[in-house]
Amino acid sequence: MKREEIETLLQSQRIDSQLPLHFDSTDFTLTALEGDCAKCQKSIEPQNFRGHINTHFKDIAIFRAIGICHQCRTLTPFIIRIRADGRFETMINNSWRQGQMFSRRTWRQRIASVFCWRPRKQKG
Ligand SMILES: [Zn+2]
Repeated sequence: MKREEIETLLQSQRIDSQLPLHFDSTDFTLTALEGDCAKCQKSIEPQNFRGHINTHFKDIAIFRAIGICHQCRTLTPFIIRIRADGRFETMINNSWRQGQMFSRRTWRQRIASVFCWRPRKQKG
């Protein structure tokens, strides 16, 4: 994610103010998003995500968000496509990687695990 986009997302609304998000076709309601800091691995509170959710397309939501870690003052970018049927893709190193959410967990946990799946920050 480019620096200009990060700065724009930081000035956007909090992600939690844009939730819940409902998919009519599957009756899936996304209530919260959580994630881990790319640097210190501590969890980023849901209220510390800023960005936007593109709901222009049917049965797919595209998140572009920045997680703000107040403990180590690091910004972690998240780009995720979540589909109404439980599939998701995350953007890692400029390519989309697919995943499948697991049925035993609650939706909240599923989404948390999605947001925890992020590229490791490169050393140096
Ligand atoms: Zn941190």
